Amino acid sequence: MQQEKIWLSSPHMGGNEQKYVQEAFDSNWVAPLGPNVNGFEQDLEKYLNEDVFVGALSSGTAALHLALIMLGVEAGDEVICQSMTFAASANPIAYLGATPVFIDSEKDTWNMCPIALEQAIEDRMAKGKKPKAIIPVHLYGMPAKMDEIMAIATKYDIPVIEDSAEALGSSYKGQKCGTFGTMSILSFNGNKIITTSGGGALVTKSKEVKDKAVFLSTQARDNAPHYQHSHIGYNYRMSNICAGIGRGQMEVLDAHVQLRRKAHQFYMDFFKSMNDVVVLHEPNNAFYSNHWLTAIVLESYEKREALRLAFEAENIETRPLWKPMHLQPIFQNVPYYGTNVSESLFDKGLCLPSGSNLKEEEFLRIQNVLKDFFKL
Ligand SMILES: *Cc1c(COP(=O)(O)O)cnc(C)c1O
Repeated sequence: MQQEKIWLSSPHMGGNEQKYVQEAFDSNWVAPLGPNVNGFEQDLEKYLNEDVFVGALSSGTAALHLALIMLGVEAGDEVICQSMTFAASANPIAYLGATPVFIDSEKDTWNMCPIALEQAIEDRMAKGKKPKAIIPVHLYGMPAKMDEIMAIATKYDIPVIEDSAEALGSSYKGQKCGTFGTMSILSFNGNKIITTSGGGALVTKSKEVKDKAVFLSTQARDNAPHYQHSHIGYNYRMSNICAGIGRGQMEVLDAHVQLRRKAHQFYMDFFKSMNDVVVLHEPNNAFYSNHWLTAIVLESYEKREALRLAFEAENIETRPLWKPMHLQPIFQNVPYYGTNVSESLFDKGLCLPSGSNLKEEEFLRIQNVLKDFFKL
């Protein structure tokens, strides 16, 4: 008989989620607004703790779409984006008819390389087009080199949209990820560090921007008794049911970050003495990762595939790293700047089961596959 599947990252309820959902039913707030939506936004604002304003939306992708719209991105514009990421970081650029300009990773955090970023800005400006925004990503929860990236953004006066979809609970130099950019986005998809079954948020530094995002996300209805529209609107608001799940999840966020970090430590300990396996780790104590997923790099593509298949045979889910966007068929022929660090990572990298709900016996099963594979 096939053993039960071990997932890379699966939803992990804390217990009070159903209480908040029940309240929504009891008060009949079964709509894309209500007390849970407001409560969840307040919980996030308090957690992020940098005088930010949070708008709860239907997904992280929707948040990114609205952020780009509010920065005035239009057809024909260029937007700089980290190449190694999930397609949702880049797709909203295409929704607007703008062109992404992809930037390679650096080796320490696997996130946007500041050197390639500055080269790209200089080169695009020399070609007559100043990029409208920069989208760095905190991949797998690891903070990007935000000091360097923000300094370049400030030097060239380009707004930053921080893709913090994977990094709620991470911080850089003591400041929470999601509070560095002009705007930031969060995701509460089912596989993320906390989930609302599906959902996202826009984080901003001003109440006006938040209000504008909420306005656009609820069909851009002008203030009139009839339906009056002077902007194109979207249906992107979070529902009060989903927000109820989110409020319950916020109660266990810190505990779940600790459990993900424990899973990461398990792998760090296992691979400690192996020179041919690198575990993505915090470069120094300026970086604090929620370790949403623990990822490793093996010596070759063949070795990576063999390990992936060894896990698969035991019904354990693993996954190659994000395939860089500049290698994706949808983004052929778009500009790319870098030295192919991300290509090499993609070739040899693997994400390992990292959920906060992994049980002791599941860690044992994972360890057995690893021991067998590395002949320990
Ligand atoms: C999950 C994710 C998103 C998109 O979030 P959704 O809520 O699924 O739309 C964007 N960027 C990154 C890096 C992600 O991992």
